[in-house]
Amino acid sequence: MTGASDVPATAAAYEHAPVTPDWTCGTCGAAWPCEPKRDRLLAEYAADRAMLSVYLGACLAAAAEDLHAPGSTSLQDRFLGWLPRRPKRF
Ligand SMILES: [Zn+2]
Repeated sequence: MTGASDVPATAAAYEHAPVTPDWTCGTCGAAWPCEPKRDRLLAEYAADRAMLSVYLGACLAAAAEDLHAPGSTSLQDRFLGWLPRRPKRF
């Protein structure tokens, strides 16, 4: 930690990026997507929530393979269950 302000994008340390094959957060060590990452994803994909679902679906598929838990409900909850639902769908 040098405290440099111009850290390149490769600095996953503050990106809350997933560490495979365990799918834990590289920053805070929580199960990915961690709370900070969820906030970031919602902000990043605020204009296109459908793309966020697609992205997380791809992550879920990869995680299911890495964790050898295909079709796991808890994994689905973890990757997709936290997404705010659209009121109209109900
Ligand atoms: Zn994190």
